[in-house]
Amino acid sequence: MRGAPIVKGACNPSSANPDPPTCCIALPRLERMTVDAAPSVDSSTRAILDALPYAWLIVLDDFRILDLSEGARAFNLASTGTLGDRGVRRLVTNAIRTQKPHELDLELRGAVPGAASRFIRVRSCPLNERMCALLIEDVSHAMRVDAMRRDFIVNVSHELKTPVGALLLLAEAVKSASDDVISQQRFVNRMRTEAERLSRLVNDLSDLSRLQSDAYPVHGNAIPVSRIVAEAVDSVRLIAQRREITFIVGNFDRLQVQGNEEQLVTALRNLLTNAIAYSAENTRVSVSGRLSAGFVEISVTDQGIGISESDRERIFERFYRVDPARSRATGGTGLGLSIVKHICASHGGECVVWSEPGEGSTFTLRLPAASAS
Ligand code: ADP
Repeated sequence: MRGAPIVKGACNPSSANPDPPTCCIALPRLERMTVDAAPSVDSSTRAILDALPYAWLIVLDDFRILDLSEGARAFNLASTGTLGDRGVRRLVTNAIRTQKPHELDLELRGAVPGAASRFIRVRSCPLNERMCALLIEDVSHAMRVDAMRRDFIVNVSHELKTPVGALLLLAEAVKSASDDVISQQRFVNRMRTEAERLSRLVNDLSDLSRLQSDAYPVHGNAIPVSRIVAEAVDSVRLIAQRREITFIVGNFDRLQVQGNEEQLVTALRNLLTNAIAYSAENTRVSVSGRLSAGFVEISVTDQGIGISESDRERIFERFYRVDPARSRATGGTGLGLSIVKHICASHGGECVVWSEPGEGSTFTLRLPAASAS
C-alpha cells in the first residue's frame, strides 16, 4: 500500500446522525488486494486521525484491526487483534456496505463488580471498500451531567407541584366557604404559607443557578467575620425566639475573610436556619470562630437530632432530606446545604460536618483567611 494513490474522501452525515464529527480523511485506495494481503495504513491517514479529538482504530471488513491509537487501547474493544463487540462489528459492516458514517453508543461495564460503567460513542467512517476508521469518544461525563440535569428537572417539578397543587385546592376551598368567614380566614392563611414556600423555593433555585453559573472564584474586599455573623444571626433571631432557642455567639475579633458578603451571610444563615429547624425547643445554638492553617473556621453547633453517617454523605445534594416531612413542615426547600456548598467552593473553601444522631451537629464553614487577619 505504501505509495498508493490517495483519493480524498469525506465522512458524510449518516441519517441516524445528522451532525457527525467533521472530518475529511485522505483515503488509501486498495487495488488488487487479496483477502490475505492485509493492507497497511499510510502515515498521512494516521496523522489525520491523530489530529482528531478521538481515540481511533482502523478495521478491515473481516474485523481485523490494522492499527489503533494509544488512547483506543483503554476501551478494550479488541482481543487478539480482532474486533470483539457485535454492535461495533455491525457498525463496521454498515459503514463499508453503505459507504457512509454510522454511529453507536455503548456502555462498557466496569471490570470489577460495582465499578462505574463508562459510556462511549463509536463512529464508523468508511475509508474505502474494505477498510473503516472507528472514532471513539468517551461520553461518560456528558451522560452523567445529562442524567443529573434530568433528575434536577424531575425534582424541581415535583417540588413545585406540592405548593401549586395546595394553592389550587385552597382557592377552591375559599370559594366554596363563602358563607363561613372563619373557615375562609383559615384557608387564606394556609394559602399564604404555601405561597411563602413557593417563593422560598424559587429564590433558592435562582440563588443556586446563579452560584453554579459563576465559573470564576469570588474576589472582593476583606470582610470582618463578626459582621457576617451579626447579620446572619439577626436574620434568624425571631424564629429562634419563637422556638425558645438561645444563641451563644463567640468572639470573632481580627478574623477576616475575602469574598462576597451577601453570599457568605446566606451560607451562615442557612446553617443557622437548619440548626434551629432540627433542634428541640429550649436548646442552644452556638456560633464560634477560629483561625486554623490559613483558614477561618466558622462553626454552628446545635443540640438537635443529629445526622447518621450514611445521611451525612448525602445532605449536600440538591433536594436530599433525611426526613422530607420534617423538612417541609419547617419550611425547608432541600436546597439550603447545596447553596452553602457552592458558596464555600466559589470562595476557595468547604463546609464540613460533624454529627451524631441524638447528639447534635456542628457545621463548619472553612474559608481562606483574608491577608489582614
Ligand atoms: P432543608 O431545606 O430540608 O433543611 P438542607 O439542604 O438545608 O435542606 O438540608 C438537607 C437535610 O440535611 C435536611 O433535610 C436535614 O435532614 C439535614 N440537616 C441539615 N442540617 C441539619 C442539622 N443541623 N441537624 C440535623 N439535620 C440536618
